[in-house]
Amino acid sequence: MQYVSIIKIKNDNEIEKAVEHAIKLIGGINKFIKKGEKVLIKPNVCSEKKFTTGITTHPKVIRAVVKQVLKAGAKPIVGESSIIGHSTMKSFEISGIKDALKGLKVKIIDLNTLKSRRVKIPNAIRKKEITVSEGAVKVDRIISIPVLKTHMKTLVSLSLKNMKGIEYGREKTNNHMAGLEETIVDLNKRFKPDLSIISGIIGHQGNGPTNGKPIKANLIIAGRDPVAVDTVGTILMGFNPKKVKHIKLAAEQGLGTNDIHKIKILGTSLNTAKTNFIKPISYRLPLGTKIKTLRNIIRKVLRKRMPEPYIAFDHDKCRLCLHCKKICPVKAIKLQNKKMKVDNKKCVLCLCCHEACPYNAIKVIHP
Ligand code: SF4
Ligand code: SF4
Repeated sequence: MQYVSIIKIKNDNEIEKAVEHAIKLIGGINKFIKKGEKVLIKPNVCSEKKFTTGITTHPKVIRAVVKQVLKAGAKPIVGESSIIGHSTMKSFEISGIKDALKGLKVKIIDLNTLKSRRVKIPNAIRKKEITVSEGAVKVDRIISIPVLKTHMKTLVSLSLKNMKGIEYGREKTNNHMAGLEETIVDLNKRFKPDLSIISGIIGHQGNGPTNGKPIKANLIIAGRDPVAVDTVGTILMGFNPKKVKHIKLAAEQGLGTNDIHKIKILGTSLNTAKTNFIKPISYRLPLGTKIKTLRNIIRKVLRKRMPEPYIAFDHDKCRLCLHCKKICPVKAIKLQNKKMKVDNKKCVLCLCCHEACPYNAIKVIHP
């Protein structure tokens, strides 16, 4: 049986107490962290956005976790590497995290400024070796603090997916191409967090991880098993964890359980905490629908003949920052006559550009 705690709060003043209580319910911080250990605290600070967007981990949650680690007598390091094109240190600043950690004995680092290390993955399913930041190798423990959010490619982005931030530089997009879900599982085989705490104070719904909308869910979810924690997080968002490929794969590979009957919920009940999130467009109609309207039946029949979804630019919103061009792993994007253009024949729909665009200027069109 795995234990996952859920704490629902009424306002932000309760965050620190809620984090402390969530950890206490699953055994207390000393169960996970020992005195003198070096601890990498890995939040989701993927882009240069304020925490109020729900794109980054809530600063007060990170502060509360750092205080817990300090209380255990360990040495906390808050480390992240943002999406290609975004400055990690700027992301820490704009999100409000840098300010929130003032006065605490903690280092804040851009994992991409450290050396890279090629590490072997035991019993890999897709990648036998992955290049990561040395910042994730030279520590004794890892605490993953993701946001409760949706993702255009993987449906949810929680503790397991959050570990992608330790991949070094281009390795992030390389692994998107190699099989995003499989490489998330491979990465967690070598770097499985010792403790996962989902920041569900302000979640992100719709076209996540960066182009959706914030949703105030007021939740903290914590546990030792990241698969169980992600399973609970997914249910709380109103989705079926058995249909989330990387969570299912992680369970099949023995990283934890995705069976809700083998997870004991502590604190707030699932029913009380449940907050239905809007699905990303890539998971909405017409693909995968079971609603038997005449329109959907016709669509299903015609699906094979229907054109594929494609990437398009909203030129009014585009500010020509070129982040999309830099991140595209197949060089399908170019700047032509002062406008961004995509070669849809080259595009492999990895959606990295959509994720990287700071101005919501990239759309995924479902014809
Ligand atoms: S243009 Fe296509 S291949 Fe390139 S980043 Fe965007 S979705 Fe991926
Ligand atoms: S589409 Fe977005 S990421 Fe690409 S150049 Fe325009 S603003 Fe930048």
